[in-house]
Amino acid sequence: MAHHRRTRAEINLKAFKHNLQNLKTALGSKTEIMAVVKADAYGHGALPCAKTAIESGVGYLGAGVIEEGIELRKNGIKDPVLILGGIFADEVADLVHHNLSTILSTSHLAEALSREGKKQGKTVNIHIKIDTGMNRLGVYPEDLLALTEKIGSLPNLKIEALSTHFSSADDEDLSITNQQIELFKKALNKLTNAGIIPSLTHLSNTSAIFRFPESHSKMVRPGLILYGALPSPILNSVVQNFCKNENLKNFEPVMQWKSRIILLKSVQKGQALSYSRKYFTQKDSRIATIPIGYADGLSRRLSNNMEVLVKGKRVPQVGTICMDMSLIDVSEVPDVQMGDEVVIFGKQGEEVIQVEELAQKANTLPYEILCNVGKRVPRIYQN
Ligand SMILES: *Cc1c(COP(=O)(O)O)cnc(C)c1O
Repeated sequence: MAHHRRTRAEINLKAFKHNLQNLKTALGSKTEIMAVVKADAYGHGALPCAKTAIESGVGYLGAGVIEEGIELRKNGIKDPVLILGGIFADEVADLVHHNLSTILSTSHLAEALSREGKKQGKTVNIHIKIDTGMNRLGVYPEDLLALTEKIGSLPNLKIEALSTHFSSADDEDLSITNQQIELFKKALNKLTNAGIIPSLTHLSNTSAIFRFPESHSKMVRPGLILYGALPSPILNSVVQNFCKNENLKNFEPVMQWKSRIILLKSVQKGQALSYSRKYFTQKDSRIATIPIGYADGLSRRLSNNMEVLVKGKRVPQVGTICMDMSLIDVSEVPDVQMGDEVVIFGKQGEEVIQVEELAQKANTLPYEILCNVGKRVPRIYQN
């Protein structure tokens, strides 16, 4: 199929590799990387990204749900995979069969995993998660020893790691994360004193990696930075300084989202554009239709509130974004033609639109913009 005609996401795996390498250099040899490839690698394609990560020497992958882990296994990935979102007790057979690891917060799941491990003749790797303030998954620190005692009494289980997750690593206020790090340290001490020494410890997401180096410990769990985006504007200067101090090149965006002009027309002054007449031309205008809409993941909330690139120039999106189409005003672009490339985010000529900009305009995070790039948008890999 010719993917060149319409909307596509270009994925630069070289940039992905570069970002991984950058991070590795910065972390040094004491801290390993678990590459988080959940949600189809934040929309970039779980399999190509996982393979690239492994080629680059990453020894652990993070999936969101068990289906994602199984998908990796079915495509020949044999390296360790952690199911970050945990599993239901009725999913243990699949987990054990596919040699996946899971985070664990309850003795109920520990019992189910132990039984299944015994049945399949395997030892199951578990990553105990402690809840240090997210109040989502995890066991509270005061209940940790009761859980590990229970686990100790069960066969076919191995505590491979102790982990936690930060709620506020990209917040202005650093105190919450510092507190979480302290709680984690205390819990690890308790465990060590009880004679349990997990070979891995991991706490840090992207924001924590850059803002809380003391949280690195034995392994970190970067997601967004591998795709070359930043969780919040707070990270801008932090990451820039980080790269400067470590003598690293900047992290590079991996995805560019592009479309093409399918129709170009002259619209007279005072005409309403698209559904519900939310936009009127202020003058005689050149209006282009592009085949990208909210069914492709371009949020309708961005209607009349975003720009795209045409011939290296920023032009406004105009009128309500439809399911399959949107309109842009190209009046200010000379020599524009049907078939011309339109960049939603990415680079064109000297001009760049970052996914962070789109996120800010949509009042959301780069995570959501990337994850929402739809299934019907073909990913074109550039290597
Ligand atoms: C998604 C996720 C990460 C990665 O977060 P980023 O901010 O993308 O680096 C790390 N840990 C857990 C538990 C996650 O769910």
